[in-house]
Amino acid sequence: MDSYLRGEKAFLKAYGRYDVVLERGEGVYLYDTNKKQYLDFYSGIGVNSFGHGYKPYINALQKQIETLMHVSNYFYTPVSIEAAEAVKKATQLDGVFFCNSGAEATEGALKLARKYYYMKHGKANSEIISFHHSFHGRSTGSVKLTGNPHYQEAFGPLIKGVHYATLNDLKSVEALINERTAAIIVEPLQGEGGLNLCHQDFMTGLRQLCDEHDICLILDEVQCGMGRTGTIMTYFQYNILPDIVCLAKGIGCGVPVGAFVANEKYAKAMEPGDHGSTYGGNPFVCAAVKTVFEIIEREDMLKHVQEISKYLTEKLDELIREFDIVESRRGLGLMQGLVLKDDARPYVKELLTEGVIVVTAGTNVIRMLPPFVITEEHVDEFIGKLKNILKKSK
Ligand SMILES: *Cc1c(COP(=O)(O)O)cnc(C)c1O
Repeated sequence: MDSYLRGEKAFLKAYGRYDVVLERGEGVYLYDTNKKQYLDFYSGIGVNSFGHGYKPYINALQKQIETLMHVSNYFYTPVSIEAAEAVKKATQLDGVFFCNSGAEATEGALKLARKYYYMKHGKANSEIISFHHSFHGRSTGSVKLTGNPHYQEAFGPLIKGVHYATLNDLKSVEALINERTAAIIVEPLQGEGGLNLCHQDFMTGLRQLCDEHDICLILDEVQCGMGRTGTIMTYFQYNILPDIVCLAKGIGCGVPVGAFVANEKYAKAMEPGDHGSTYGGNPFVCAAVKTVFEIIEREDMLKHVQEISKYLTEKLDELIREFDIVESRRGLGLMQGLVLKDDARPYVKELLTEGVIVVTAGTNVIRMLPPFVITEEHVDEFIGKLKNILKKSK
């Protein structure tokens, strides 16, 4: 039986998977079981920032496997301390909780914001403001934060007290604020929802509203953080700090790890027994976290992301002028979306056939999340193949 069919028989059908079985990765290329090569322009949904088989990363993990894999969170380990310090430094916040995924990061941030509210009011009746078209994960808490009814419908009753505002519409946020509002959660750059970027005045406005009303500003940088947009956290481009930031995806570059990180004010609300995770931030994943920060710094990767993304966006903008079907481009750094006047899925499928992997966002956006280590040649290869496909649509 072919591998794809074996997979179809063995797995729950939670995903619509492509009829391609990936076997090996090297640099920015992936290879399937028929040895066909694919240019990786999605990084496993914004995870593999260094591409595949990046030696300094692999060496650090191998060393850690031989030293210590897991001890539980009853103990610190040297490597977990180093990882937490690196996260603190990068986020300019004060206290780290390591978990295993993005959903757990948003879930944990939600709990911490509610705990602060509970300590202040003595009541557990807080409300949260999230946004339409947002994405915060699939657990029953985080999926409620996710402003997409389609993901929620079948799974109720979900958590109560979540209301949805409109991105970049401060009035819609103000209208939802009341004395029970504990937190506002927002992605500075929405990923799944279609690469919608928060405007500067909107972000500044959210920070002000949160300060005025003692509300927790949670930024979900699970996808847009960790250097993907050209700064280590996207919020540095807005000149604000959140009260809590959520991280995952690129923080492990392939090992399952997430984190939520709080400032002093919210860090104080966390007490022993409030939250936990058996695996959360074990020595193995912390070796990855620590090494990811080291590599980004040592290799000056943020500068490279800024430069190569400029090249990429220039080429993408040419496509808007050249092809009617291409409406616009949205995004920051190496988190880009090409907005089509058409369903993006057939184009993504065509690209796969041509040996390029990208993903969609919303229904009409081709989303690109290439590894940080791409060069101009890779961009040219990508644009060449994309052009061939767009030409057919003319
Ligand atoms: C992917 C993502 C999540 C969920 O992360 P998982 O690791 O899949 O649970 C949460 N928020 C954002 C912004 C994401 O892109």
